[in-house]
Amino acid sequence: MTIQLEKANHFIGEADHLLVVSHLHPDGDAVSSTLAAAQMFRLLGKRVTMVNESPIPKKFTFLSGVEEILQPERVMNKFRYVVALDCADAERMGNSRELFAGDVKILNIDHHPTNDHFGTVNVVEPGAAATVEILFQWIENNKIPWNKSLATAIYTGLLTDTGGFRYSNTSSRVLRQAAHLIEIGIPAHIIADTVLETTTIEQLQILQTALQSLQRTKDGLIAWMSLRLQDLQRIRAANDDLDGIVNYARNILGVDVGILFRETEQQTVKVSFRSRSRVDVGSVAKSLGGGGHARAAGCTFQGTLEEAQRQILSRVQAELERDGK
Ligand code: 5GP
Ligand code: MN
Ligand code: MN
Repeated sequence: MTIQLEKANHFIGEADHLLVVSHLHPDGDAVSSTLAAAQMFRLLGKRVTMVNESPIPKKFTFLSGVEEILQPERVMNKFRYVVALDCADAERMGNSRELFAGDVKILNIDHHPTNDHFGTVNVVEPGAAATVEILFQWIENNKIPWNKSLATAIYTGLLTDTGGFRYSNTSSRVLRQAAHLIEIGIPAHIIADTVLETTTIEQLQILQTALQSLQRTKDGLIAWMSLRLQDLQRIRAANDDLDGIVNYARNILGVDVGILFRETEQQTVKVSFRSRSRVDVGSVAKSLGGGGHARAAGCTFQGTLEEAQRQILSRVQAELERDGK
């Protein structure tokens, strides 16, 4: 076992009641790692409370235990032991941090290369495709017996963070783990249909609006789309209705970087980056106060949509020119 996982075991051993938290606007890995970690700690005899600042997207409600993930306002206790999952920095936990006691200790388990090691104990593995990949290893090391709900949670995180086992993080280890989970008897095709194929009508209406704003640089290397607050309000889109929209820009033949600019309030723009190979968008996002991975990253920009487009496009263009030399 890695030294870090041994330290993690020691951390869990010391605690009697753990707060398990992931990042706001949770994706499949965030929800699944929360549920899998909580289940593992309970099997080890611990009391566990799960929180997330944001509501859990509807497509993940099939996962067992998801209704126990509470928004922090509903939790009265303060916690001395916190397990943070899939969070590159402490800010990603959002207002869940209001539940921390003054002398809080944090176990930070994550796979983002931009992780700033904010924990008391840090299990950060940028080589892992998903946070659940690290949890799989931990579960095996601790000889926790697999059951279908634990296996389903881990599989869902692997599936979503690898884009259905297609992204460059789809290693042989990921596929071996997935094979092991399928052998336990989980309904892999139903999970894929639920979390990858099924769309809401709002998602398609957002896509329709976003595609009308699609633009490309002259050289065709960057493509971007924009969504205004009024569009999002008219469609009544939820955050998870925006998932995957940015890929339509990146997927165009010849494009290296796809960007989605989305007004979240006046003067605030959430930016999502996806890249094929030439630009490390994780570093670009980090230099703008955000973070993520080389091929998928994000940040929040203070200013108008037009200012965000101008500044960020010129940053990405400079990166492409640097790469071209
Ligand atoms: P998305 O574009 O899907 O929101 O995010 C893509 C990736 O970038 C995810 O791995 C996510 O964790 C990371 N990311 C997105 N926004 C932020 C941000 O504001 N800060 C940090 N640290 N990471 C972000
Ligand atoms: Mn995530
Ligand atoms: Mn992840």
